[in-house]
Formats: sequence, C-alpha cells, structure tokens
Amino acid sequence: MEDIECPYCKESFEYDSDPIGQDEETEIECYACDKSFVVSAHWDVTYSSRKADCLNDGCCTFKDLCRTPFIIAKKVGQMCSQCGKEKDRDATVEEIKAELEQLKDYPSLHKITLGRDYNHD
Ligand SMILES: [Zn+2]
Ligand SMILES: [Zn+2]
Repeated sequence: MEDIECPYCKESFEYDSDPIGQDEETEIECYACDKSFVVSAHWDVTYSSRKADCLNDGCCTFKDLCRTPFIIAKKVGQMCSQCGKEKDRDATVEEIKAELEQLKDYPSLHKITLGRDYNHD
C-alpha cells in the first residue's frame, strides 16, 4: 500500500482503508493531528491529499453546478469546491423564470425544471 501525507501536519502514514477506485475520493482523518482531509486515487495508484478546511470547520463553499437544465424540480444543484459534497438549494422565482426563458425551445425540459413528472430521489 502507498503512503499518504497529511496536508496539515505532513505526517505520512500507510493508507490501509478500503481501496478507492480510480478518480474516486475519500475522506480520511489523520491519526497524528486528528484533522480530516480528502484522498483521491489516480491512474498510477498513488494517493494524494489536499486540504479541505470545510471538513474541519464545517464551512463548505458551495458553488452552483453548471448543468442543463440548471434548475431541477425548482432546485439548483451545488457542490463544495473543497470537499466535493453536493447539495440542493431552492431556486429563486427570477432564476426559474430565466431558466424557462432559456429553455423556451425545449418544453420537455420545463417539466424537469418545474419538477413535474420528475422523481427526485
Ligand atoms: Zn495530520
Ligand atoms: Zn466542503
């Protein structure tokens, strides 16, 4: 198994948790400084880590996802730029109006934007 280095305290230790697939990420807690960080696997199966302060202070930096349709069931998808966590936020009335205008040539997407005939899990 590869060694990984804690991005906070630079302690390196053996990665002995479940193997993570290529291009996948997992959260790890450093045994030395007790801080959490993100480990991602790459093609050559080395592990890298980056700071994710939000895992330690609980303050994620959510950014709107660029997707089409932008609004699904009146919700805008967001992802934290640090830890990759996803969540939804309520779209504003203005955003929904703008989205419907944007998609005026695609009536089938209006259903998705407004959440009709759409099963959100
Ligand atoms: Zn550490
Ligand atoms: Zn986060």
